[in-house]
Amino acid sequence: MQPFHGVGGLLIAIGLSVASSNVAAQTRATLATADTAVQVAAGADAPRLVSLTGRRLSPWQNRGEETLPPWVEREGKRLPLHWKLVAGATVVSPHRVAFVYETSEPRLQLMWEWEERAHFGPVEHTVTIRNRSGIEVWLPVFDSLRLAWQIPESEELRSLSIEKGAGAPTDQGTHVDAVGPGYEWTGWSSTFAHPIPGRPREIIPFEAVFDPTNRGAGWFAGIEFSGRTRITLSRKGTALSSAIGLDPEPGPVLTRLVPGGAFITPEVFLGTFTGGPDGTGNELRPWVRLVLGAPRTWADPHYPLTVNNSWGVGMSINDAVARGMIADASSLGFEMFHLDAGWFRGVGDWYPDPKKFPNGLVPIAEDAHRHGMRFGLWVDWSQAGIDTEAGALNLHDPKVRDWLVADVGPDWKPQDFKGQTIDLGVPAAREYAAREVDRIVTSDHLDMLEHDGYLVTQGCTRDDHPHAPPDPAHMQVEHYDGEDIVLSSNSTDVSYHAVEAYYSIYEKLRRAHPGLLFEICNDGGRMVDFGTAAHGDYFSITDSYDPLSNRRAFYDASYVLPPAMLETYVDKWPTPHPGNFVYELRSGMMGWLSVMQNTSAWTPEQHEAARRELTLYKERLRPLIRDAQLFHIAPRPDGIHWDGIEYWDPARGEGVVFAFHGSSTGETEHRYLLAGLEAGASYHLHFEDGSSRDMAASGLELMQEGLRVVLPQPLTSEVIFLTKN
Ligand SMILES: [Zn+2]
Repeated sequence: MQPFHGVGGLLIAIGLSVASSNVAAQTRATLATADTAVQVAAGADAPRLVSLTGRRLSPWQNRGEETLPPWVEREGKRLPLHWKLVAGATVVSPHRVAFVYETSEPRLQLMWEWEERAHFGPVEHTVTIRNRSGIEVWLPVFDSLRLAWQIPESEELRSLSIEKGAGAPTDQGTHVDAVGPGYEWTGWSSTFAHPIPGRPREIIPFEAVFDPTNRGAGWFAGIEFSGRTRITLSRKGTALSSAIGLDPEPGPVLTRLVPGGAFITPEVFLGTFTGGPDGTGNELRPWVRLVLGAPRTWADPHYPLTVNNSWGVGMSINDAVARGMIADASSLGFEMFHLDAGWFRGVGDWYPDPKKFPNGLVPIAEDAHRHGMRFGLWVDWSQAGIDTEAGALNLHDPKVRDWLVADVGPDWKPQDFKGQTIDLGVPAAREYAAREVDRIVTSDHLDMLEHDGYLVTQGCTRDDHPHAPPDPAHMQVEHYDGEDIVLSSNSTDVSYHAVEAYYSIYEKLRRAHPGLLFEICNDGGRMVDFGTAAHGDYFSITDSYDPLSNRRAFYDASYVLPPAMLETYVDKWPTPHPGNFVYELRSGMMGWLSVMQNTSAWTPEQHEAARRELTLYKERLRPLIRDAQLFHIAPRPDGIHWDGIEYWDPARGEGVVFAFHGSSTGETEHRYLLAGLEAGASYHLHFEDGSSRDMAASGLELMQEGLRVVLPQPLTSEVIFLTKN
């Protein structure tokens, strides 16, 4: 079978074949993009993923059978389920294949679906179970996707996984592991990044496996969901197995299916690639942009914006300081003023502090607009506090107390900007939050809404919420970073409901305010996943703001997410020499740039340098950050040695290399082996700071001998533009 016939080509093969273990006829179908094809089969009792094929790659054969939920609980009794194919309900269209199964007692319907939403890149998969009976049942949650590839016993394999930046990037961040015999790995993701003591740093919920000896060819999978999920990968004999879906620990995880209600597994994507880790990124990132990204956001040529953030003055922000920051930032060329924490009356009381902003925020928003800037605002809208003014979310209100994940003591007090999280999975709490964010966006004239804090909870002590109740015998309350995290068998289900509510709030808000931008902060770098990529416009990728942390977080996340979505905050940092200042700025200029400093305090020389860098960003770097391929052309930054990133846009014939010289005094020059160029083509090189003269070089030279950059001073940088002659 040859599933590929040109870009955007599709081939749907529907045939009848006889499975060896089953005499019933099977419907087979193939769903294909230009890069990935899956063949699926509908057996009488269960569907099956048969194979995955990549462009010019031999197929991976899946030898696992899909295990449909074997039982549900009803009125405390476990009922075995016998699933049967409803052949007449099968859907095979150019963009979607769906097989439907049913059980008669109790009456449940299962839809097993594969979908193609772009002509290139991966395909997506979900399973939906509906309760067609008149009685509530409890369903054991199951994986979104299980893979069991048949592999040659001797094949050399590597895996790629990427950590979240969270509080600060760890020393590794990007993991390329040898997947040898007996290999076993699990990666976890939630909105907390450190949910369970003893677990390693969480990952962006994604995995890739490739053969380094065969053009770096492989497959990748990821989860479009922000709740508690995990991915496992193991190799045993001739089987390479992976389970992708909701975190089953602590278990057993059950979810409620009310009559007429449905459970949908977190959507997963599955694709193929060549070219190792950078190959997977260059395949995945354009797909994330097209399929998950907001079309209106990407249609704006100013995206990603350049931002000045008020946290440079911390909680001491007020009307006069904000106006001063806007005036100076606009003179430098910043495009948005972002008012961070410190503007509000109190936690859960999201009204301007009358002492700081006696006329409210509208005059500040309008001042930004007059200066040609947009206006963004920090809110931690799922937090309750103790303010008693009208409009405040007070957790002593009995209604609000019922929304909390756990009771608080009588003397409980919020921190400066951290309160107690409400469970958004409770319909009344979700409705409050939806109204509240809409009010804030409307009344404060926002162009951008940032959410911070641990907005989506996991684990809850309540037994009267829509999620499963906790298991009182196995319930542990962890205090993490000012949050109560309840660990029990309901933790995953609580996060499932809260995430669904969070998505519905933002979908509604986006419909009501087209063009409004959403920043996903979540205490910095903790909610970086493909579910938020589909509901927000950019991520704060780490909560540490120095040049090294910013470059490390960017190095990691840029493997799997569009760089335009990857925001780093550039904080004050010692810059004794002018070159150090530019190095500091450029460490945040490879993706979305937010400068978290009071620029009025900069020297005239720093003003001049920042103005030049912002012009460079907007005119030359931003088009490449939006559209170009990205290559990691140096080891991950360690702050000591050299590091760098290459962008190359084959369509424009243009690219750029960001070169950073770390703190080492001995290494005054470095050679970067470039990627993605044509060996026989000639390229013009322009060194933006004039550290070397402009020159021409062939693609072969640049890829084999390298691009030589000379920077004698430590903690300095250069930006080198490449143009194909
Ligand atoms: Zn709850």
